Amino acid sequence: MLRSLLPTRSGMAAGLKRVWRPAYLGLAPAAALAWLWFGAEGAIILLVAALPIALATEPDAAPGARGPAPPEHEPRDALSGLVLRTRAEHALQTVLTHAASTGKSTACLVLVLDDARLIVERHGQAAHDHAIRRVAERLLVTMRQHDTVARLEGDRFALALGPMRRADLETLIQIAARAQAAVQEPMSIDAMTLYVSCSIGFCLPGRIVEPTGAALLTAAELAADDAWRNGPSAIRAFSQEIAAHAEHRQSLRDQIEFALDNGQIVAHFQPQLSTDTGEVSGFEALARWKHPERGLLPPGEFLPALTSSGLAARLGEVILFQALNALRAWDRAGYRVPNIAVNFCREELRNPKLVEKLKWELDRFDLDAGRLTIEILETVVAETENDMVVRNIAALASLGCGIDLDDFGTGHASITSIRRFTVSRLKIDRSFVTRVDCDPTQQRMVAAILSMAEQLSLATLAEGVETVGEHAMLAQLGCGHVQGYAIARPMPFDETIAWLERHRTKLDETPNLGRRTG
Ligand code: C2E
Ligand code: CA
Ligand code: CA
Repeated sequence: MLRSLLPTRSGMAAGLKRVWRPAYLGLAPAAALAWLWFGAEGAIILLVAALPIALATEPDAAPGARGPAPPEHEPRDALSGLVLRTRAEHALQTVLTHAASTGKSTACLVLVLDDARLIVERHGQAAHDHAIRRVAERLLVTMRQHDTVARLEGDRFALALGPMRRADLETLIQIAARAQAAVQEPMSIDAMTLYVSCSIGFCLPGRIVEPTGAALLTAAELAADDAWRNGPSAIRAFSQEIAAHAEHRQSLRDQIEFALDNGQIVAHFQPQLSTDTGEVSGFEALARWKHPERGLLPPGEFLPALTSSGLAARLGEVILFQALNALRAWDRAGYRVPNIAVNFCREELRNPKLVEKLKWELDRFDLDAGRLTIEILETVVAETENDMVVRNIAALASLGCGIDLDDFGTGHASITSIRRFTVSRLKIDRSFVTRVDCDPTQQRMVAAILSMAEQLSLATLAEGVETVGEHAMLAQLGCGHVQGYAIARPMPFDETIAWLERHRTKLDETPNLGRRTG
């Protein structure tokens, strides 16, 4: 009888190997006591009874080992060791195929880290990779034996549930909450504590028309996108409403891509003046979408969708090309425009090929790097620890490009980071400029910024100058350059030549235009 209860030889050997791990040494005193009280047979019975329990509660050492056993050479994620998307789809499909005969169902959850990008920027790639491995380990321990944990693209994980009797909303919310709690436990990595949060989307087979493994996973991903947008730490079930929103976003993405490729995204140009001479010191290129039905759209209407669709680099290319083209055209037309400023967002600044691409473009247009200014938001400089961003900006500065710190005063950049990012000019935010001519508090703020800039040998440019009074006060306080509706609104390239001509005439007619006039 005893023999039939015993594991097979190889199973026993593997089991014993595990017994010698410290976690199971706890069984030793109990076995010894049993030996004493019941003799050898009693001790063996106890061991046989206790071993399966100990083995079942042991955390799985090999990542991705849960769920239906993957084939020998199945590709795995190099970082976490987890199985990949196709495995999760296959696991879901297997349960669905046999659902009618087994009466059991499944569901899919997708877990997405809320701030993976920030982890990279604040703590570096190594800390991020460490966190991914830790999340994978925790999910493997938390999920049941027959569930499959897979790594998806980016910072996402799929949880394909093994056959279950009750796959309903309530159960799924509980499972999601359990996985979330496990991932969100603080992590200690390299002597620091990392707080990672995650959002989860899930889908039950009954929620989609033709449930297949792949469809279930896709639906859970859409729900996870929705959760992520509503995060941190959100949980969302897939619904038709989520599907409709996703379709809308996809169509917007397609439209933006089409717009970028077909000349619908155009740069408008807003002049900047020197307060010393009144002459044009540059133009800022600002993106507009010439929408075939909705007319001219400002960046606020399409930039968020464009960036989240991964099209920021394309926008950068399109605007840079138009900006350099404009500079060449002004040169040819005989107007002195020393500088063109282009806005670069965080996503563009992360591009490892950015500097190379920019150099190539400058060469192509035969323009000096000193004639191009890169505008970087103060928040990007304040928040970023990203090596690539720092390296790119430093490389652009050493190439000779100007670096303007955009929206200055709103983003809490430290003086150290201003130095590290080799900033050449502070672009004082409109919020400090508004009513600077009649509000003493505003005047004190601007005066403080200007004096700091002087001490740090940084040039200054005030943006959002809407009145002649503000222009005059800024000139009097010693701000080097001004830009805003009081001078001109952003305009299409075709209108710039006429504007430059009018401005030239105005300067000629007003020989003393400068610090005290608007
Ligand atoms: P920003 O870089 O701070 O640009 C200044 C914004 O203020 C522009 O809005 C401009 O039209 C507006 N503006 C200029 N003068 C005045 C003024 O006197 N009063 C007021 N109230 N507003 C003024 P716009 O063109 O809607 O651009 C909004 C933001 O979109 C920009 O803010 C910039 O962050 C972003 N953006 C624009 N073009 C690009 C681009 O090509 N690439 C990237 N990455 N971002 C862009
Ligand atoms: Ca700007
Ligand atoms: Ca700005």
